[in-house]
Amino acid sequence: MSKDAGKPVILDQSMVGRLSRMDAMQGAEMAQEASRRRKLQLARIPSALARIDTGDFGLCVDCDEEIVLGRLRIDPTYTLCVSCANKTI
Ligand SMILES: [Zn+2]
Repeated sequence: MSKDAGKPVILDQSMVGRLSRMDAMQGAEMAQEASRRRKLQLARIPSALARIDTGDFGLCVDCDEEIVLGRLRIDPTYTLCVSCANKTI
């Protein structure tokens, strides 16, 4: 047993409060970002479906190269291949 065992544990409440507020703010921002991305993705689905109909699905709208499968697995509504996507950033 350490000699400090009997002492009450003192939590720095102001620090804890600040940390959890930061966590909460960060969490809210991430949730907002996630929902923004979902909305963008949802908005792209009809055009992705249309591109399946026309046979353009999986082809880059910029250079007509095939979009790698791994990329389409992440988001089937991608319309740019990796190199074109990198150009636009
Ligand atoms: Zn491309």
